[in-house]
Amino acid sequence: MTYAQIVDGLTRPDVQDIFAEADRVRREQVGDAVHLRGLIEFSNVCGRDCFYCGLRRSNRAVERYSMSIDEIYETAANAARLGYKSLVLQSGESSAYPVADVCRLLERIKRELKVAITLSIGEKTREEYASLKAAGADRYLLRFETSSSRLFAELKPDSSFDERMQCLLWLKELGFQVGSGIMVGLPGQTPEMIADDIMLMKILDLDMIGIGPFIPNPQTPLEGAVSGTLDMTLRAVALIRLVTRNTHIPATTAMGSIDKQGRQRALRCGANVLMPNVTPTRYREHYQLYPGKICIQDKPADCALCISGMVASLGRSIAQDAGHSLKSVGRGASAS
Ligand code: SAH
Repeated sequence: MTYAQIVDGLTRPDVQDIFAEADRVRREQVGDAVHLRGLIEFSNVCGRDCFYCGLRRSNRAVERYSMSIDEIYETAANAARLGYKSLVLQSGESSAYPVADVCRLLERIKRELKVAITLSIGEKTREEYASLKAAGADRYLLRFETSSSRLFAELKPDSSFDERMQCLLWLKELGFQVGSGIMVGLPGQTPEMIADDIMLMKILDLDMIGIGPFIPNPQTPLEGAVSGTLDMTLRAVALIRLVTRNTHIPATTAMGSIDKQGRQRALRCGANVLMPNVTPTRYREHYQLYPGKICIQDKPADCALCISGMVASLGRSIAQDAGHSLKSVGRGASAS
């Protein structure tokens, strides 16, 4: 697909043909089985001040929490009991957890639960990433958020686009399966910028690509900004599938939060992954990157049930394996 075709797909009135083709390519490249990644939001402590995010350090209205290492392990064990073969550990960006402690946690999870582990804990040094990999982390999620370095600088005043890109390159070098992505509908973001984002995803040869609509948070400087739309997000999902072919693409929580059918629709135009929340209920209300986040009153078992019903209602199945990258067999996938 050319850049001009991507822009066209993001802007022309009717894109049913693109959605249908993305669904076909999804089936051909990654099959009908939907991969589940149990999401553990283990701490909302954050040292960054991103303009879009409810966890930003200047937001005094958030009650901060950090689960203990043992509690994270117990949460992971519960998720494994619910049948998840792949877990994502996500948090704000902080040095609250010494990397050595996280490494011991990863070793224990790998040894006792034998699940695939994805980390989503932000920018670290190369040495820290190397230790986390050696301790058993299989994958890492780090969205570049936008490929426009100008927009990036406006929205992430205390980060740098180049440093985030450097992190992604380190993660690839170290053999992680790497996921990145963007928010759709950021203030000042144009369709051309999203087309650039999609080109960058292709160049980075990502294993996983997670995107979602930007949802303005009233406790941030972007309060009052216009929300991203499901339509534009679905167009981006479909085009990402067409351009990147066999990547893992989740139907994300943010899509489900702006529209009850958001995730189901994404699964029908290119997405093949769901990330059910397995965070203990009492913490969920404190991990609100954006308002209206779904499932914050639910228990892990509720989400498991809801997700399996959703997959069945679409006539799809739930994958029984860990769902490693289809690009990286032998490049970092461990046995589980
Ligand atoms: N601290 C980690 C994890 C971030 S949370 C990191 O920086 O990588 C995961 C993702 O949530 C972010 O990458 C961002 O794309 C998304 N997000 C944050 N605020 C949001 C908002 N207001 N609306 C939609 N998505 C948001």
